[in-house]
Amino acid sequence: MEVIPIAPRGFCKGVYNAIRLAKQTAIANPGVRITVLGQIVHNRYIVQALEKFGINTLDDPKATRMELLNKVTEGIVIFTAHGISNNVREEANRRNLTVLDTTCEDVLSTQDLIESAITSKQTVFYIGKSAHPEANAVLESYPSVCLIEEISDIPSLNDHSEIFVTNQTTMSKNDIEHIIEGIIKQYPQATIAREICGATRLRQEAIEKIKQVDALIVVGDPKSNNTQMLAKIAREHHIEQVYRIESVEQLDTSVLRKEMKIGVTAGASTPHKITQQIIDYLNVYDFEQPAILPKVDILSLLDE
Ligand code: SF4
Repeated sequence: MEVIPIAPRGFCKGVYNAIRLAKQTAIANPGVRITVLGQIVHNRYIVQALEKFGINTLDDPKATRMELLNKVTEGIVIFTAHGISNNVREEANRRNLTVLDTTCEDVLSTQDLIESAITSKQTVFYIGKSAHPEANAVLESYPSVCLIEEISDIPSLNDHSEIFVTNQTTMSKNDIEHIIEGIIKQYPQATIAREICGATRLRQEAIEKIKQVDALIVVGDPKSNNTQMLAKIAREHHIEQVYRIESVEQLDTSVLRKEMKIGVTAGASTPHKITQQIIDYLNVYDFEQPAILPKVDILSLLDE
């Protein structure tokens, strides 16, 4: 079996920064209650590692960030790398909570573009996913923004409307191009700002460049949008077997074959150590006497 690690993979700068800031805050504030609104990055192992470090996560996919904030009565509140709405930011300040905002700078720069388009009276179309916290922050901060999840969501407006189009940073570049094409057909005058972040784009391009693998393992949390997109792009590029797993603990060894070439990649919120553990396990895999699947060392993940 030939194992092909795909580069780049694993933590992007935004994820790395959010975890670093949370950890530093916990060290600097012993005994203070620290609460993250939602998963700081979409990876349950990181959430567990932060818990062991004394950082609590309020994670209810059905609750809004404001509803989660209402459960926080004291201490430090952390906003995640996906961004937060202005309302939640203001409410946290009004209630005198200490705020640590780990919003990624790429997310902030997209929000700035939206704000200036709205200030100049443009109609904003935002290509994203309704259930994702990055999109929610935008829609809550700017209620006039029109969310476009698929082509059928493009509204019929006055032909001369000034339209500004942008997108969630972790979308598939192929998907957004398809929707942008539909928008331009209807509104040729639209201004387009493609905002897929560098980390997401590079990981997607690396998948497109893979040559002749029989299978690809995509490592990441089911909630991670950029991980989902890597698996989707791999299928679109006709990689026959694509396996999404969260760690080596979920590796299905029954799909491994001696003569196979297997690629390994990971989403931007997947710790490097988790992906490397899979690569290491596969590299020494013995088909006659397979080793027991190892466990993830949760606490070591915060050392990255
Ligand atoms: S995936 Fe992109 S936008 Fe999201 S945290 Fe990483 S660098 Fe920032």
